[in-house]
Amino acid sequence: MSASEPWLAPYAVSSSQSRGRRYAEPEAATRTPFQRDRDRIIHCSAFRRLEYKTQVFVNHEGDLYRTRLTHSLEVAQIARSVARSLHANEDLVEAIALAHDLGHTPFGHAGQDSLNDCMRQFGGFEHNLQSLRVVDELEERYGAFDGLNLCFETREGILKHCSPDNARKLGPVAERFLLRRQASLEAQIANLADEIAYNNHDVDDGLRSGLIVIAQLEAIPIVARHSDEVRYLFPSIGERRTVQETVRRIINTLVMDLIEETRRRVTVVAPASVEDVRGAAPLVGFSQQILVEQEALKSFLRDGLYRHPEVMRMTTKSKRIVHELFDAFHQEPRLLPVDHQVRVAQHGPRAIADYIAGMTDRFAIKEHRRLFAID
Ligand code: MG
Repeated sequence: MSASEPWLAPYAVSSSQSRGRRYAEPEAATRTPFQRDRDRIIHCSAFRRLEYKTQVFVNHEGDLYRTRLTHSLEVAQIARSVARSLHANEDLVEAIALAHDLGHTPFGHAGQDSLNDCMRQFGGFEHNLQSLRVVDELEERYGAFDGLNLCFETREGILKHCSPDNARKLGPVAERFLLRRQASLEAQIANLADEIAYNNHDVDDGLRSGLIVIAQLEAIPIVARHSDEVRYLFPSIGERRTVQETVRRIINTLVMDLIEETRRRVTVVAPASVEDVRGAAPLVGFSQQILVEQEALKSFLRDGLYRHPEVMRMTTKSKRIVHELFDAFHQEPRLLPVDHQVRVAQHGPRAIADYIAGMTDRFAIKEHRRLFAID
């Protein structure tokens, strides 16, 4: 138990034990360090741009689909519920959840794959690493430092995976990848809340788009279980509401399972400190049954939605846009805005990747048109 935050479990990260910020700052008068991190994230420009970035569908395809902004809010909300039940640090999970996608390129995974391809000879591109770059270096808001100067634990939580090569370059924030230790319980919670959120909203958006239909999904046990229940309880509510009821029940089942399974593991391992959490096998996780069921859902989404011809058409176009933007800027840096030309002179192609990664879907499309349309 922490003296200043008595509601926290002994294995939770308490703000009084934080490893601190890269640049020392006086503490805020009314907020814990992690509340302050959350506020800095919400006020930064990369966060606002999440509104116009997507994962599966492109932003202009419809106003009803999730954007990265609404996705990040859903992740934060799920993560906070789980953290509260487990007496983990809600402020920290919220900060990590809200920041986890800040480094995403336009056009979701298609954009990330394409930019990674362009950067192959220059160290590659990974959105996770980029989220950390945004909060550590790219945001320009404070007089005394670049980036947002977030706490160590928030930064470490953002860095979900990392190659040994990159870990050596990044130093302490990535040391757990070299030492083969886990992240905090809070980082583990944010990570699985992300998974719960995107699988379910992809189901919802997939159905809404008409690219998948409920009959296909009802072949998947976790969906069938819940939709049977909904149809039995509410036989006449119509297809749309049946879907909504089913999705909300699946989310609830996943969240409850995550809490129960994590509690079970915590009881077995009995971690008495954050260090115990770091030294143990992952403590936050789903039960075996749910893991198997989730896998079936994921593989359906992969084949049925992410590789649907209409999604593939957009994916292919998106990749081409990112590739052509990169090539154009790389061959002729004077096409870039002046401040980015300066950054390219200092940092090389990495600065081009930073510029493209920061674009929203619609800005990338507009910029591509400006560079390539003759009329
Ligand atoms: Mg995410």
